Amino acid sequence: MGWPVGHSRSPIIHNHWIAEHSLRGSYVLLPVAPETLEQALRALPVLGFSGCNLTIPHKVAAMSIVDQIDPLAQRIGAINCIVVETDGSLSGCNTDAFGYIQSLRDARPNWQANAGPALVLGAGGAARAVIAGLLDSGVPSIRLTNRSPDKTQELVAAFGPQVVAVAWAERHAAVEDVALVVNTTNLGMQGQPELDLNLSVLSPQALVSDVIYAPLETPLLAAARLRGNSTVNGLGMLLNQARPAFNAWFGVMPTISNALLGKVHASF
Ligand code: NAP
Repeated sequence: MGWPVGHSRSPIIHNHWIAEHSLRGSYVLLPVAPETLEQALRALPVLGFSGCNLTIPHKVAAMSIVDQIDPLAQRIGAINCIVVETDGSLSGCNTDAFGYIQSLRDARPNWQANAGPALVLGAGGAARAVIAGLLDSGVPSIRLTNRSPDKTQELVAAFGPQVVAVAWAERHAAVEDVALVVNTTNLGMQGQPELDLNLSVLSPQALVSDVIYAPLETPLLAAARLRGNSTVNGLGMLLNQARPAFNAWFGVMPTISNALLGKVHASF
């Protein structure tokens, strides 16, 4: 469920796994306007759904509608997955943090969370999941910078002293000594301006990642690759956040096969 939702690649991913595991069912896109979210969610058990995903703008609003929320999603402050329980109640969880960390591990099996501080750009829903995932994986500290400073302060208050606020205007200098740079803003997405980030003081060993997957290589990742840094795009996060959701609905942890990757790549 989203509003709008037509751009989503999730049906390609989940319908591939439904067929692969010979399940009888279908993953469908449901455009749901914000004012009808509660009615739509309460209809899920009646209509025979196992659950649903939530995307923009429902991830926060749904928290006050569902019946149970797991502790990680509580900490992140957003849910992207709902499971319809056997008694018809709705459980909310967040699989974006798992998805992000697993995407780093898939792309860079030797990735060491404790290699040094991370710089996170952006303080929206994706940033919250990325920060929770990084802290839980053992990243020692996070420099957080966002255009709107009040949102940076909100996240510093929510996640504690390992997250340090950096003014948006100071973001270029904050690149120094970090082991990981993560863009979680909309900047660099198709139709959006580029992220302006000077990488000249970035360590050659640092990993640069972007949660954006359209385009697959954002200008930030292209600039990092050209100066020799390793990069990870947002497609792995998208694919990996879907795995625990599918597992929660159907009791099977699916894998990301080359056949699935081929279908997803063909959709760009
Ligand atoms: P969001 O909650 O709306 O947050 C958007 C963030 O981008 C905010 O920090 C916002 O800053 C910043 N931003 C937007 N326009 C900006 C501009 N012109 N200059 C500077 N900063 C700007 O959105 P979200 O849910 O976090 O999603 C952010 C991105 O992550 C999207 O591209 C989305 O597609 C992607 N995403 C990917 C995955 C995946 O699976 N790969 C999952 C979730 C999200 P302000 O606070 O100042 O407005």
